[in-house]
Amino acid sequence: MGSVESGYELFWKETVNQIGEEISEQEFLMWFHNMEYINSGDSQIHIAVPSSFYKDQVTQRYLQTLEGKLFELSGQKLNVAFKVQKTAAQKASEKKEESAKNSEKLPSKKKKRPHPQLKQEYNFERFVRGDNNDFAYMASYAISKNPGRAYNPCMIYGGVGLGKTHLLQAIGNLSYQEFENIKIAYVTAETFTNEFILSIKENTIHRFKNKYRSVDMLLIDDVHFLPGKVETQEELFHTFNALYDANKQMVFTSDRPVSELKKLSDRLRSRFERGLNVDLQPPNYETRIAILTKKIEEKNVEIPDAVIELICQNIKTNVRDLEKALTKLVAYAELVNRTISLEIAERQLKDFFTDSNYRNVTIDLIQRTVAEYFALSSNDLKGKRRSKAIAFPRQVAMYISRDLTEYSTTEVGLEFGGRDHTTVMYACQRIEDRMKTDATLSPTIQHLTRTIKEYRP
Ligand code: ADP
Ligand code: MG
Repeated sequence: MGSVESGYELFWKETVNQIGEEISEQEFLMWFHNMEYINSGDSQIHIAVPSSFYKDQVTQRYLQTLEGKLFELSGQKLNVAFKVQKTAAQKASEKKEESAKNSEKLPSKKKKRPHPQLKQEYNFERFVRGDNNDFAYMASYAISKNPGRAYNPCMIYGGVGLGKTHLLQAIGNLSYQEFENIKIAYVTAETFTNEFILSIKENTIHRFKNKYRSVDMLLIDDVHFLPGKVETQEELFHTFNALYDANKQMVFTSDRPVSELKKLSDRLRSRFERGLNVDLQPPNYETRIAILTKKIEEKNVEIPDAVIELICQNIKTNVRDLEKALTKLVAYAELVNRTISLEIAERQLKDFFTDSNYRNVTIDLIQRTVAEYFALSSNDLKGKRRSKAIAFPRQVAMYISRDLTEYSTTEVGLEFGGRDHTTVMYACQRIEDRMKTDATLSPTIQHLTRTIKEYRP
């Protein structure tokens, strides 16, 4: 039956070739680059794919087409079975990375000097893939190999510490090495804003415009900083158009989907929504283990598996928190010159664990909890009425929102029926003052805070 097997492989290859001619290069690169023929038999062809996310996606997108083409080519019904396993290409790239690590000290001729605005460690090799980030990873990788050709612009969004900056800079780093004369600018939205304001003040606006409109790739981090900055948005809008018309690649990141960015001009919003929008989700347990294991390797420290599991069971929020826990443990172990045991880890990270798990508290949850406590509805808190029975709970909810989330007073105001940020500031001040004189208020706030933190959907 050996000849039959190799026959299936040929059919497979031809099928893939044909699909390659029908879909865009980007799409092909993204989905078919990572597939690998394993073997076949019993009218089944086994194909390796790198993740279950990937498997679901290609099954949905291509299974029917693939099997249809295989039938046309072979005249028999062949089933394609995708299997999640490391492909040879993945193994090879890991090996390459390993040997690159070993030979890091040798001067390499081909490599350019690192890009001055980009952190070298933010590269694709160091980015651990999981179902939560695979699509964003693949899109980013495809962009860096083919800037300006597709997925332009691209918006990567997701909560804090989930790898937005890492991916954004990885795109820059890879493209910078791949393309000899490429001009890449990486900037946070905050810096972009400040530079813009300064350029107006110093009468160097021409230089500013020129700087950002002459690049081949513009990477702007954290555009959720832009809301309310009317002139900067205007400037970015024109920069966008200039680059877009010249087929220059743009990638942005934001801590929430574009649709949820408030106080953004409609025309800039529509530009952000153009192209590809991909999200980063918090990693699941298995991915957290994989990420932490990789970080431990990079730090070159010894940590027992039980400790890794402990950390990953307790820190579910994001990768930055995983890193922080690791750093804390390693620092402690070095300080007391002891190896890290489960006991030490439990003791050292206790506070960290309780702290890190309520980062995802939303204002909506706070409003619901506070409203329920005072026998009101969330809408009362967001509404216009100012009777004392509502005004006080509203102030409590604003105070807790500021305390438990990272939202600014402006953002909190918006969540409370579009109130001004000074109202929020006033509310927080009122509650703080009252806590000094009213002995029952502190316990009430503590109780509410605990309820909110312990809330499990
Ligand atoms: P964000 O910009 O979304 O707030 P960052 O990109 O700064 O998050 O990521 C926070 C930290 O977590 C960085 O040190 C980054 O290298 C690391 N990190 C995030 N995602 C991953 C991942 N999938 N694999 C490896 N490290 C990651
Ligand atoms: Mg970031």
